[in-house]
Order: sequence, then C-alpha cells, then structure tokens
Amino acid sequence: MGGTRRSTRNMAKKTTYLTTDDEYEDENKKKKIKRRRQSKKTSTAATSTPNVMIKQEEEVEDIEDFSKEQSFKIRSSLVDWYDNNQRDLPWRNINTSSKAYAVWVSEIMLQQTGVVTVVHYFNRWIHKWPTLLHLSKASLEEVNEMWAGLGYYRRARFLLEGAKFIVQQGGHFPNTLSDLRKIPGIGDYTAGAIASIAFQQAVPVVDGNVVRVIARLRTISANPKLSKTVQTIWKLAGQLVDPDRPGDFNQALMELGATVCTPVNPSCSTCPISDQCRALSVSTHDRSVSVTDYPTKVVKAKKRHEFSAVSVVEIIEDEALMDGPQCNSRFLLVKRPDKGLLAGLWEFPSVPLIGDVDFVTRKDAIDQLLKSFDLEPGSTSNVVLRKDVGECVHVFSHIRLKMYIELLVLHIKGGNRVKLDKENNGWKYVSSKDIASLGLTSGVKKVYTMIQEFRDNIPRKSDKKLSAKSLSKRSCGSS
Ligand code: SF4
Repeated sequence: MGGTRRSTRNMAKKTTYLTTDDEYEDENKKKKIKRRRQSKKTSTAATSTPNVMIKQEEEVEDIEDFSKEQSFKIRSSLVDWYDNNQRDLPWRNINTSSKAYAVWVSEIMLQQTGVVTVVHYFNRWIHKWPTLLHLSKASLEEVNEMWAGLGYYRRARFLLEGAKFIVQQGGHFPNTLSDLRKIPGIGDYTAGAIASIAFQQAVPVVDGNVVRVIARLRTISANPKLSKTVQTIWKLAGQLVDPDRPGDFNQALMELGATVCTPVNPSCSTCPISDQCRALSVSTHDRSVSVTDYPTKVVKAKKRHEFSAVSVVEIIEDEALMDGPQCNSRFLLVKRPDKGLLAGLWEFPSVPLIGDVDFVTRKDAIDQLLKSFDLEPGSTSNVVLRKDVGECVHVFSHIRLKMYIELLVLHIKGGNRVKLDKENNGWKYVSSKDIASLGLTSGVKKVYTMIQEFRDNIPRKSDKKLSAKSLSKRSCGSS
C-alpha cells in the first residue's frame, strides 16, 4: 500500500522503496549486538569455566567442533525422538515424484509464518497446483492470490519463476545443492532442505531454530546474524547431520527448536539431547545464567515511518444506489510497479506523503493522481460522497506505514465514460462482489474492511435518525 508512483503535487513525497524485504535485512546485518549480561563480559575462553563468557565476534571461529562421539549421540537421540514425536504435516506424507516440489513449497511458506497457518496455505496450494508442471502454467496474479496474507510476495513470485525454470530445463527437479542453487529464489537453506529431505543427500540445513539449538549446545555468544557466526553454525550442523537419515535428522533438529528448544521457555527437562547441551550445564552450575542467554539477542532496526493518502474510489451507476446495497458499484484498483515492495500487486490508488498533512492537501494530491485514470472528480464525474474515513497503520518488516483513508464515491457524467469492464495496463475496476474474493494484501484488506464498516453506517434517506457518530472517523480494526 501507499506507493502508487504517479506524478502529484509538491506535497507528495518521492519515495524510493527498498527493493525487497530480504535486501533490507541484509542492510541491517551490521547493527549493534545487544549484550544482555554486560557484567559477564570477559576475554577468557568460554569453555574454561562454567560462567557465561561473551565472546568477541572474531573469536567465533574458535568454537570447538563436535567430536565424532558427540555427533553420534546427538544424532541417534534426536532421530529416535523424531520418530516418536514428529508432527503429522501434509508435506511429510507426500512420497511421490512430487516430494521435492512439496518440500520446496512448504519450506518457502514456513519461512513466512508458523506451521499451523502453513498447513492451510499448503493444502490449498497443492490442491490447485499438485505438481511442478501445474504451477509452471499459473499466472503471477493467481499465485499472488493464493499467497495473499502470507507476506513477502517476492517469495511467491520466485516459486512461480522457479517452476517455469525447472520445466524449461526439462522438468526434472535438480537433486544436488549446486543445481538447486541455480533455481530462482532458492538459497542455501532451501537447497539444503530439498536435497536432504527429498533426495537424502547428507547436507545440513540451518534456519533460526537450528541456530538457536546449536548456539545453546555449544554456548555460542557471538552475534548470530554475523556471517562468521552463520558459517560456524553451518559447519557445526554439517558435523551433526546423519548420513543415513539426513532428511529426518534435519527435520528433527528444526522441530526440536520449534517445539522444545524454544526462544523463551525451552523445555530442557524433556529435551532428548540435554546431556550434550553446554548451555544447560552452565546454567545448572551458575543460577545467574540461563540457557535463553544463547544465542545473543540482536537489537532490531527501527522501522522507517512512512505516510500515504489512500483513496478508495467507488463508481456507482446510479446515485440512488447510495441508498441501497453496493452490488452494482465498482472499485478502482491500481497495480504496483513490477519491482520493489509488494511488486505487481493490486491496491487502492495512493500517494506517498511527507508526513501528517490535512484532508484538503491530501484531496488535491489524490485528484492529481486520479487524472491518470481518466477521472476528474467534480468535472467528468459527480462526487456523490467524499469522506475522510480515518487512519490505518500497517507494519511491514522495515516500514511503519500510516495510511489516511478516504472514500470517494463517483457517478460518471453522461454514462459510462470510463470503460469499467476493460482492464487497462496497470489499473482496473472490480465489482464490490468480486473484490472480497480477490487475493488482496493484508494492508489492502484492512483498508477495504474499514471502508465497508464506514459504508454500512451511511444513513439511508429513509433513516431519519441520522447520527453524527455513524459517520465518525475510524481506524483499522475499529467497529
Ligand atoms: S537442553 Fe534445553 S537449551 Fe539445551 S538443547 Fe535442549 S532444550 Fe535447548
């Protein structure tokens, strides 16, 4: 939301969106490390005493390797535990030639949200596109619709591009790390997951859960976001991976992190590898130390504050319809640029602002924008209603966007001058009936819900008890 780039007046800020959320994350890798226990800082080697030692970043490469015996113990305990405790998840039950495809889709979704939500999205996805070939024939619009609500839409686009890529190469899912890395959107983590789970290659997988478990097993205090630390953890994970059951082992390690060795309340008493855990050993000897001191917490970067004016433009065929249901009205949707934040997704027309500006200024900016869509409120169309509906804040991983929402109901003079049924390049009209079923982003959905609530309270002409409250301004989530 909030970034339709059309020429507007001076008050509209020229905003350059960061290309992707992932790139933003990269930018922040150099941020300061929060040291929770400054008093324990020392330059002494961490393994020489039961006290927690905060290591210098450059010391991380000195972390001791797992011995063969330790690796063996951890492996066998973890795989046994997994055999008895693994969750029943739909992608684990697919053992056909589509196994790699299922692992790929599930792993990409799991990078977005928790397992419970992913199960629902995964089942819908596989029902619509049961194989790689089916997905390769989908449109970006369909994929975005299916992905709506998961966020990071770039990942959905990469799934589609990846499917097309593999089909172009002959349709066989690559089974080596190096070939998997050639697929658009597949990085080290996803390549490792597919190679080990679908093709039984003895390669490690490192996600946030694995980082946490290994940091605790080895009392690693270095910033887990630094590349040196990440490299060390990949190396240690590689020492642990079970050559006989690599896929199960990797899933077991991730599952342990997700269900037992959790960030805040790890269940060490039920942990199958507690006898190999240094953090537990240290914390048992020194009560001022907790296993949750590992890995070091990293201060998150502050979100950038942005502002935008959003106009929900509703075209009605007959002014009298304002007094009835919305079944004949249409809403203007605008496509975002093909690159950048929420690339290629549909949203209500919007203008970036330099900050909090008044309604009149916002209206002027929106009017300028609407000319791009052959709309000139008050000139080529009657303004049936124009109301400042309220504000809505939507938070991205790196941006806090405050949207000022208006409802602009227009009736086109002299009939349908606007070709409502024709999808123009970059904008279209969608019926009020269809808009609810479109795969809109959660930010756009919030705005639409606000508008619906506002519109439902517009008094009918027959309603004599017109309440000033009924048209009061709102914020998203209010009723
Ligand atoms: S003993 Fe506790 S801290 Fe150590 S790996 Fe197990 S759950 Fe995590």
